[in-house]
Amino acid sequence: MEKEYLIAACTGQAIDIKKGQQITIIDVEGGQVADFFAENTADQNEFLSTAVTIDCNESIRLNINDTIYSNLYTPMFTVIYDEVGQHDLLFPCCRPEMYDFFYQNGANHPNCFDNINKSLGENRLIIQPLNLFMYTTIDDKGKITIHKPLSKAGSKIILEAKMDMKIAVAACSVSEADTNGRKNSPLKITVN
Ligand SMILES: [Zn+2]
Repeated sequence: MEKEYLIAACTGQAIDIKKGQQITIIDVEGGQVADFFAENTADQNEFLSTAVTIDCNESIRLNINDTIYSNLYTPMFTVIYDEVGQHDLLFPCCRPEMYDFFYQNGANHPNCFDNINKSLGENRLIIQPLNLFMYTTIDDKGKITIHKPLSKAGSKIILEAKMDMKIAVAACSVSEADTNGRKNSPLKITVN
């Protein structure tokens, strides 16, 4: 039976996932980044690691059939379908300190760090999620540029779960840069 979750702009939600289920993350209006984090249901000290995923896949990109790994080098997801092809594995969740650093407006700014921590009922010190639909490029000197996402209204990526997990997804709150096309919009998640 399929379950559907609507994540309003600038909010987050946690969802329990069983091994073998398929999780579809849909950019409802287009141009919206999904901060996607996960932890092992049985052990919250095992969690999604973009660094380990980069290590194991020998790539800073996500491609179809790639595996997404935990900090303990265990497969958590496989990418089984992707309509966008540009996702970021480098940036941490936005958080008040980030908004202060770049825009001096961190106080009371909605942010993915708090939205994911609250949805999980946790106080993680840093969250480095998959930034689904986030479009970043790197030049020869290592300069990273954030572009408007390539995702259009209804664009989706589908992940298959490799263990029982709790996932937490936030519709990124940045409106000050091209990250989300200088606006904020909702996401839809389906699980089946
Ligand atoms: Zn964010």
